[in-house]
Amino acid sequence: MNVFQGRQLVITTKHGKGAVLAPILERLLGVHTIVYEDFDTDSLGTFTGEVDRSLPPMDAAKAKCLKGMEATGIDLGIANEGSFGPHPSLFFMPCNEEFLCLIDLKNDLEIFVKDISLETNYNGAEIKTTQELFDFAQRVGFPSHALILRKSKESAEDIFKGIQDQDQLEKIFSELLEKYGSVYVETDMRAMNNPSRMAFIGKLGEKLAEKTLSKCPNCQRPGFSITEVKRGLPCALCTQPTQSVLSQILECQKCGFKEERFFPNGKSEEDPMYCDFCNP
Ligand SMILES: [Zn+2]
Ligand SMILES: [Zn+2]
Repeated sequence: MNVFQGRQLVITTKHGKGAVLAPILERLLGVHTIVYEDFDTDSLGTFTGEVDRSLPPMDAAKAKCLKGMEATGIDLGIANEGSFGPHPSLFFMPCNEEFLCLIDLKNDLEIFVKDISLETNYNGAEIKTTQELFDFAQRVGFPSHALILRKSKESAEDIFKGIQDQDQLEKIFSELLEKYGSVYVETDMRAMNNPSRMAFIGKLGEKLAEKTLSKCPNCQRPGFSITEVKRGLPCALCTQPTQSVLSQILECQKCGFKEERFFPNGKSEEDPMYCDFCNP
């Protein structure tokens, strides 16, 4: 039995993420979930820039989580925060980074997970013709993935979100085009309008539950997880260290107990193909 079994857990969300997270958390943690939607999570910043996102995503997730817990009086909660932009190492590739945090006041726990996905339709363009509009819509998975139309990229004026209907799309587009001469079209990244993002959040929810359930072998505190990764898996041919992962270090945030797990990818040597000496 885990320390979460049978407890209430509040999911603070505005954009329908409760639908994907609730069943995962109920199944894996044994909690009863309550979705708290009254809090205006957009007050911490919106993707479309009407409200600046001033907090780093991890802090924003934590702030949301605590608001929901405070409002409902429940001592266990989770919240999510996502961001979109160019991938940090793969140039020009749009990516979606998601953060989830779980806070348990009863057991004094704060557990965070994050992940980056390239499975995103994140995109935007200034357009002037119906053909450009249709090409864009097709490329980003419309209508299952919603679109946003507005005056210009920088302007929050005349903004239409959550468009998932072809007729509506064409109508708003021609009105804006007539008024301004060009229109900015972009993907709607709010989770309920974006199945790719929703699926990714679901996967991250599983990762969070797994991390939460991992216990320290020394003091049994939940959340025993990887804090460091060591590279240097030896090459199968010359035995020199490679860039591949040799071991993971797990550390308990309470008692400081450490464990080193070797060969996390199931192999004790690396293919010489990835060796800087054999295959420079
Ligand atoms: Zn411990
Ligand atoms: Zn080698």
